[in-house]
Amino acid sequence: MGDRWLLRGAEIITCDPEQADLPRGDVLVEDGRIVAMGPQLHAGDCRIVDLSGKLLLPGLIDAHRHTWQTPLRALGADWTVMDYLAAVRVKLSPAFQPEDLHAANLAGALEALDAGITTLVDYSHCVESPAHADAALTALEDSGIRALFAYGYAAGPQQSTALPTPASRLQDARRLRSTRLASDSGRVRMGIALTEMQVPWEQSRAEILSARELGVPITAHCSAWPVSGPSEVQRMAAEGLLGPDVLFVHCTWSSDEDLRRIADSGGAVAVTPETELQMGMGFPVTGRALRAGVRTTLGCDVVSSNGGDLFTAMRLALQVERARAHEKDGLSRVLALKAARMLPMVTLDAAEALGLGRVTGSLRPGKDADLIVLAADALNLTPLNRPRDAVVLQAHAGNVESVMVRGRWAKFQGALVDVDLATVRRRVIEARDAVLARVGGPDALLRGRADLSAHWDMGGGAKDA
Ligand SMILES: [Zn+2]
Repeated sequence: MGDRWLLRGAEIITCDPEQADLPRGDVLVEDGRIVAMGPQLHAGDCRIVDLSGKLLLPGLIDAHRHTWQTPLRALGADWTVMDYLAAVRVKLSPAFQPEDLHAANLAGALEALDAGITTLVDYSHCVESPAHADAALTALEDSGIRALFAYGYAAGPQQSTALPTPASRLQDARRLRSTRLASDSGRVRMGIALTEMQVPWEQSRAEILSARELGVPITAHCSAWPVSGPSEVQRMAAEGLLGPDVLFVHCTWSSDEDLRRIADSGGAVAVTPETELQMGMGFPVTGRALRAGVRTTLGCDVVSSNGGDLFTAMRLALQVERARAHEKDGLSRVLALKAARMLPMVTLDAAEALGLGRVTGSLRPGKDADLIVLAADALNLTPLNRPRDAVVLQAHAGNVESVMVRGRWAKFQGALVDVDLATVRRRVIEARDAVLARVGGPDALLRGRADLSAHWDMGGGAKDA
């Protein structure tokens, strides 16, 4: 397809503070960027797409996903966090081979694109060898999605032979940063995903400093259960290690003071409502984080348990927060958290949390053309009253008709572009079969559960079932 597009006649939600929504407008895309927006643009030589009756939005940003778990879809439907850690992190993760990881990340990234996610934070903590990291990264590149490939420093139950020490993992991250991920303007960029900070603090400090040395964003699971001793945020604050380059995940057990510390440092929080509610991580921190002034984002986290689209995540986070307010107030008179407030969490705020606020996350001239088209003429969106609210409360992934990343259609009028879906499906099924065979089948996942206290400090807060 050509690289000059006029997207004509859509209702446009810009998610940009300086660019008003347009009830009916055009967007001109050239060389991957938005070059003009407005009613009735005249563009000369270009390809025109008629978007009458459609909604045009910035592409959505998933701030937290373990894409490698795609072959494990729904296996953890009834798991608590203890079950999840025992089955996925201890047993299944070491059973992945590089080709499984490629199949998983490709299928998972395409699933995300199909659901309107144009940018993904891939918290890739299944790195058993340099070849694993390469395969996961290659799949993101192959998929067409924009991504932060967050190299996961967490080791399995035993350090692998290929990466036998924490230091060897840091070295492997340096290898990628100096070769395939040297650019800070590529579609796939580098980040670092920390090991949960329940290892010796010296290791956590070294991981954080390594990310700073590489000059890449940091993301870290944080306070998903009560731990004994200082919190992750307290530890980092004590050594001046907080910063705007840190995206904390969950924070369900973070104190208000910790949230203020994150806010003061310019850092951000990723809420993953579905996992948090299911697994017993406590209530999503959405409302407390917003009140503390923290940049707040949303993630799908794991399709091994829950859904992989952000419409569900927005709705769940919103309504849980409202339920909590009603419970606290004894039936609130006013809903403090407005539906439309969820949109920045999956667009501009998420882009800024990743250091990509000038590149993506909203629609305005000068930004990359990362955008999605929703079928506003679908029955579940007709009549279209209050478009922003309808997107949050009523749209679903099936309404995503077209998806553009950096000016290239990843999905066009209902179908993924240049994707051999039969092969993608076959490969992710084969990966599932291979991984499950290596661990003795699905019935063996929770059998002979390992002693989790060797890996994670549950602080006595989470009770084993
Ligand atoms: Zn996670």
